Amino acid sequence: MTNPPVPTIDHWISGARVPGTSGRTAPVHDPATGRRTAEVPLASTAEVDAAVKTASAAARDWRTSSLSRRAAVLFTFRELLHTRTDELAAIVTAEHGKVLSDAVGEIARGLENVEFATGVPQLLKGGFSEQAASGVDVYSIRQPLGVVAGVTPFNFPVMVPLWMCANAIACGNAFVLKPSEKDPSASLFLAELWKEAGLPDGVFTVVHGDKEAVDALLDHDDVAALSFVGSTPIARYIYERGTANGKRVQALGGAKNHALVLPDADIDMAADAIVSAAYGAAGERCMALSVAVAVGGVGDELVAAISSRLPKLTVGPGAAEGTDMGPLITREHRDKVAGYVAAGAEAGATVVVDGRDQDVPQDGFFLGMTLLDEVTPDMTVYRDEIFGPVLSVVRVDTYDEGLALINRNPYANGTAIFTRDGGAARRFQNEVEVGMVGINVPIPVPVAYYSFGGWKDSLFGDTHMYGPEGINFFTRGKVVTQRWPDPATSSVDLGFPRTR
Ligand code: NAD
Repeated sequence: MTNPPVPTIDHWISGARVPGTSGRTAPVHDPATGRRTAEVPLASTAEVDAAVKTASAAARDWRTSSLSRRAAVLFTFRELLHTRTDELAAIVTAEHGKVLSDAVGEIARGLENVEFATGVPQLLKGGFSEQAASGVDVYSIRQPLGVVAGVTPFNFPVMVPLWMCANAIACGNAFVLKPSEKDPSASLFLAELWKEAGLPDGVFTVVHGDKEAVDALLDHDDVAALSFVGSTPIARYIYERGTANGKRVQALGGAKNHALVLPDADIDMAADAIVSAAYGAAGERCMALSVAVAVGGVGDELVAAISSRLPKLTVGPGAAEGTDMGPLITREHRDKVAGYVAAGAEAGATVVVDGRDQDVPQDGFFLGMTLLDEVTPDMTVYRDEIFGPVLSVVRVDTYDEGLALINRNPYANGTAIFTRDGGAARRFQNEVEVGMVGINVPIPVPVAYYSFGGWKDSLFGDTHMYGPEGINFFTRGKVVTQRWPDPATSSVDLGFPRTR
């Protein structure tokens, strides 16, 4: 069967759509139908180099723009994003597969990062100390880095680029985005909005591609910093290669998020929250809950409460009315996730609900929701990040055993505790070795004025993403010590400068 012709997506360079010239492309699919809908160009090293050069020229001018002008562009961009949310959500659903309400939600959370960045005149205020020594004042300023790059995953094609670019641009940098090649169209939509908002050409660039384009960014002398979100092996690689090249790098990796359910928890509330967080976006969220740790005797009641909710949920195309969960991103990924369910069953887990048996649309990359009970830490379903609609229940006897299990896991992105006991929750918040903690909150993604980041294998680098740490990541601090001519304080003194 021959494939019908499909459009080829462009790069976005110097404020305009630019066709790829490398001759290499990758297919983009509608996961709900399985049909190929476009081809995305995969940039060569030379194309990335040309794009970075235009960004570099734009960065020189943009850093001189006033803070109020930058804020004005961000305000307009925010309004455009808000007004055109439904159009953008439709693009996300068509290439990612998530349900429309979820796509709208992702855009809304991304938009909050733009709102945060509109405060850039306040955020870049430095400190000033008059009379740090006699006749001497000291003050601090934060300056842009120049060209900064973002490499983003498929699962949030709008929110994650906005985590990065809003602050990067507000701080006076030019931003080069290398979006996921699996759902690249949202990035072009964002580029058009930036242009309409009055952002000068070259300050926001999109180059599509795979490893070759990413390596070109990691090796480019004019790229000062790189912000990455994706899987752990790639995050580690990005961090090592980027920092070896002298760049500032923050690389957020994968996750295996546990919910600890104590015997005193409100089981209905916990089950609602765990089902939403395990199966929302078909489990393709870095903050998805993939393990429920049932403490004491709570396991039977919890498993019953979770499994009773699953038949009420509808799996189908993300754009269809009434759908709760859409397809997975690719056929290969769907098959890999189904393989994990088989491996769990073979290893002795109890398959309470089997996603492979469910009545789901046959076209497209659908898989139903799976609930596994009696999972043990040696099983691959427990050890690996599955990134699909599979929830494992691990039963433990005590809080301490549950805590130790979570702290032993190499991933440490998010976690949640479900309890009515404030003392236990407070203890957990203190003792758990995870970057983001929810207390009766299943997906504790920090709001835009805090920063997002896991610990251990979920983040390589020191700086978390967006919020205050994002402002620090995209700027360099400078401290100025000043004195003005005053004969009374001037003399030759070869000693080390003293302040008193
Ligand atoms: P991925 O690591 O496969 O790809 C992420 C980006 O890296 C893409 O732009 C891709 O083109 C690029 N890339 C892929 N292979 C590369 C290579 N060999 N060299 C250089 N670049 C390469 O991740 P994905 O499948 O797109 O996204 C899912 C993963 O992202 C999951 O592991 C998920 O947990 C993680 N994620 C983490 C967070 C977080 O905040 N920690 C948020 C969202 C997603």
